[in-house]
Amino acid sequence: MPRVHLVNPSTKSFGVAVFTPRWLYVLASATGTRWGDPRIVDETLEPLDVETIAPGDVVGIGIHTGNARRGYEIGCDAHQRGAWVVYGGIHATLFPDEAAEHGRAHAVVRGDGDLVWPRVVEDCLAGAPNPLYEGGRIAGDQFASARWDLLPTGRYMWASVQTVRGCPKHCSFCSVWRTDGQQPRNRAVERVVREIVQLRRMGFRFIALADDNFYPVALADLAQARRRADGSRLRELEALRAERFALMARLAELPDDLVFYTQITMEAAEDPAFLEAMRRAKIRGALVGVESVSPEGLKDVYKGFNFAGEELVARLRTFRQYGIHVLGSFIFGLPSDTRHSFDATVALAQRADVTFAQFVLLTPFPGTLDFEKWAVEEKRRGTLVDGVPLTRHWLIPEERRPRLYTPHPTMSLEEIRLGAERAWDRFYSWRNVWARSRVVESIRARFAFVLISKLYRQMYANTGIAADSARVQRSAQRARWIGYACRRLFLGKPLPDLQVPGEQLELSEAINEADVDAFSTPDGVRASAQLNRRLRWMRATRAHVK
Ligand code: SF4
Repeated sequence: MPRVHLVNPSTKSFGVAVFTPRWLYVLASATGTRWGDPRIVDETLEPLDVETIAPGDVVGIGIHTGNARRGYEIGCDAHQRGAWVVYGGIHATLFPDEAAEHGRAHAVVRGDGDLVWPRVVEDCLAGAPNPLYEGGRIAGDQFASARWDLLPTGRYMWASVQTVRGCPKHCSFCSVWRTDGQQPRNRAVERVVREIVQLRRMGFRFIALADDNFYPVALADLAQARRRADGSRLRELEALRAERFALMARLAELPDDLVFYTQITMEAAEDPAFLEAMRRAKIRGALVGVESVSPEGLKDVYKGFNFAGEELVARLRTFRQYGIHVLGSFIFGLPSDTRHSFDATVALAQRADVTFAQFVLLTPFPGTLDFEKWAVEEKRRGTLVDGVPLTRHWLIPEERRPRLYTPHPTMSLEEIRLGAERAWDRFYSWRNVWARSRVVESIRARFAFVLISKLYRQMYANTGIAADSARVQRSAQRARWIGYACRRLFLGKPLPDLQVPGEQLELSEAINEADVDAFSTPDGVRASAQLNRRLRWMRATRAHVK
């Protein structure tokens, strides 16, 4: 019988990974079981063995710009072995023709794959796939849950659950608002909760809420809607906001040892009610897109809703007051950056009590406003690298790919690259990491914090910014070792009997204390296997669910 393969391409494999690539397990669920369980390959763990692909199989490859080239290699190999090759993901949505030209696609899925994927598989196995399928932007209550039962054990530190797609902002360097849309689509709360309970049963304590923007309605948006004569927009935003609070209230009912992490805009720092709800919901960390510490830099990226200077420090510290650790994301290479920007950014991040930081280089990613502006100029310049136009930089072999693409008015590109490396070095120096590790209490936890900081640096800085490929390989190797050492720190004891809060109430209403006692008696005729299971479940629930 032909099989379905789902592949997450990567040129670097670490043996372990921080986050589960959620899309693999969502599409596995959408595939169904008619053709057996799909075979899942995450190349951030191990490279794909093409020998496992047989003629007539279906190979689904999800690509973003960063891994598109590797994805096309896999597609060509699979095609050669006689399999049906299908691409999906943001990059395939933007460039469906490229997937056919460079990756020998039989079919491409644009937009959300949750609903359309089973039809794609069926058409392939019937020998007649369409070249293009429009998955569109499905409603939040249609998002598929993931097949977490297919996860390999002990390989991932954080599980990932999605609660909303889309973002109402329009940052110039980001494609999310154009691909996922500006209308936030909240996922049904109970589905989110059920998935989290399933993951906690399996032993995951750390769960990323893998959303584009966890805070889709800011107070400023509500104020603006209130000024409109027509109240429909205000009602719509209030309903969206109420759903966020409903979700957080349900997260608050889950076991206390869970830790959530998400991505959020800085505007949330002005919304104490939201921060308080996050604290109760056990959302202990958030990636905040700071981008630049200067007003000019924020203007460069259309992020005027952020703050700069001392106001920025105050906003970032506010998150900490609610127990939310910030992973600050900063961009270097903006036109307004100067030679002082690197040190100034690190100093600000430290003053603002940011727990983790990432310093990324401005890259024109397709689907963004920055890309469109840059591509017009770059076409005129007509730069080629290994015969590939720079406007298709993701097709250039990785070791030959430039690290920066946009000429800067006052600095050379190498100066910017070195400045960014220096920022990573300073922020993640042993001394600074050890000082920051005071955010946790025990010595064991402080060592864990140090390991995780170093892992983060190895995985995301050296492999992304370093120009020397030998150094990239060494970093990948080091990340692999640290990753193996770290992974156990994240896992908890599995709680196989954990129930969804609220659902146990229905049962406890059905079985009262007297029943429990009766079931426990040695001669209890009613102590059938089923009731005993219920009894065990009730006891476990009392122990684990608040
Ligand atoms: S960077 Fe964040 S806030 Fe800006 S558009 Fe993208 S998802 Fe939205």
